[in-house]
Formats: sequence, C-alpha cells, structure tokens
Amino acid sequence: MIAAVDIGGTKIAVGMVDEHGTILSKRESPSEVDRPYSAGLELVASMLRETARDAGTEISGIGIGSTGPVDPFTGEFGDVDFLPQWRRKNPVNDLARIFNVRVALENDADAGALAEAGWGVGKNKTRLVYITVGTGIGGGIILDRRLYRGVDGAHPEIGHQVIDPAGRLCSCGFRGCWESLAAGPALAAWAEKNAPNDYPSRKNLTAQRICQLAMEGDGFAREAVKREAYYLGLGLANLVNLFTPDAIVLGGSVMKSSSLFLEGIREIIRRGCRFVPVEKTEILLASLGEDANLIGAARVWHHRFGQPELSLAGPVPAKA
Ligand SMILES: [Zn+2]
Repeated sequence: MIAAVDIGGTKIAVGMVDEHGTILSKRESPSEVDRPYSAGLELVASMLRETARDAGTEISGIGIGSTGPVDPFTGEFGDVDFLPQWRRKNPVNDLARIFNVRVALENDADAGALAEAGWGVGKNKTRLVYITVGTGIGGGIILDRRLYRGVDGAHPEIGHQVIDPAGRLCSCGFRGCWESLAAGPALAAWAEKNAPNDYPSRKNLTAQRICQLAMEGDGFAREAVKREAYYLGLGLANLVNLFTPDAIVLGGSVMKSSSLFLEGIREIIRRGCRFVPVEKTEILLASLGEDANLIGAARVWHHRFGQPELSLAGPVPAKA
C-alpha cells in the first residue's frame, strides 16, 4: 500500500492509496507557516501511522506531491514561501529513514498530471497536458506516457507564459502572465475594478461568488466570466499549438464552474489553432475531484518505482 503526502499552502494531507488510485483512509492538518520543520515532519509521520492503522495496512512506499519549488531527484525543498521552515530540508530522506521505505517527490501539478494520466480521465492518453486553475495556474506535461521534465529536472512554469505584455505585473517580473490574467484572484480583481458603482454584489467578489452570480444570470458576472474564458482560452490555445496533445485535462477550483467557460475556451482554440489538427485535441475535465493531489502523490511513487516502463530516463532518484 502506498502512503500519499500532499503538502500545500493551507494544509498537509496524508492518505493510504491502493493500486487503483482509491483512497482507503486519510487525515489532514493545517500547514502552519511557523511550525518548525522537525515538528512538521513528526506530524506527517504520526498522521501516516494513523492512516495506515485506519486502513489496516502497512506502508510499502511513500509518494509526496508538494507545492514547489522542490527537487524531485534530491528530495530537497527549495524556496517554499508557504512553508519557510521547510527550505533546504529533505523530507524524502527523512521519511525514508523513519519508515524504511522508498520515497518519491514531485511538484504537486506534476503529481496531478500523473494521477489523471494514470488513474483518471487521461488514462491511455499518450500526450497529455494537465492544467489546474485556482489561486494560481499550474500544470504538468505527460509526453509518451512519461512526465516531461526540463533541464536538471526543472518543472516548467506553464502559468507564466506571457499572454498580454501590457497586462498586470506578475510575481515573476513579467506583465500579463497567464496566471496573472486568468487565475481565480485575477478574475476577482478584474470584477472588483470594473463593477459598476451601483453593482449590488460588489462586496467580497471572489471567483467562486462571480461564477455563482453568473449562473444565476447576473449580467456583469456573465461579462466577467466571458473575459475569463477568453484568457483561459488564449493560454490553452498556445498549449494546443505548441504540443498538439491528445488531451488537455482541466482541474482546480475555478474549473468547478467549467460549464461557464468551456464553450468560450473551445471557441478561442478553434479560432486560433488552424495549422494543427485541433479537432483531435480533447479538452477534458479532471476526474479525481477534491483529492486529486493526494491521489497524485501516490501516483508519483508508482511512476518512479512501480512501473519501470513509465519511469523517467534521467538522474538516479535519491536512495531510500
Ligand atoms: Zn508570471
């Protein structure tokens, strides 16, 4: 049984996941920015023991998916703003020592891509791009059934492709990145800035609230949603032109309202991708739901150690 650890900005979740991608038991705890690394590690270890006991099983390997930057081969965490105490720490080596099993780590968007390609809607797709739209935009690329990595194992930053150089300043230094135009906070910020003075729903305009209002037929919210679909579509059209994948799988909190965006997205892609067989790229919705990242963390282990034919040629992973 593979134990999964999903480390994110707000919570750390752990679970026991079987070979079909089904979660048998799980637990979670808030991330807590100031908690020392040693206490965080002990918390993860004790949650893992509890979930294994809940599922009545033993841990035979551990997969970790984490918000980046993380080094999948050394197992070391980089400059993780959301968990500063974990900087330069190595939970892969530490958990391997504690549980005496092999441990694999990937960026959580890559973990999500692996999960959808292995156990989800992207099963049997050879070339797949997975995109998650939430507080940011992240993604992972599966090419020929393997996780695509950049130089030195680097994780590509799909959310920072520039869509409009005259757009909003992004945390990366560019203007008008996809993420700064189309992630949830960007949708909310645009609506807040452009809402008419007498707009009755002006207060607390989150992406979720705007989508809800649009579903109820609110004219201004529908305008905001139209703009969102336009920018989502532009970024996705770039991916279709660059990769001509079998499928693009869309997940993340904003995509819970996908029915508001899909038509607009497809229209943009059709309009702009004339030199590739665009009708062959399926636009699919992620199928693994709320626990996609946790399931993905387990898939990370299988991708690394479980299926030699799917593992990546490249640097040798950190030894357990
Ligand atoms: Zn950026």
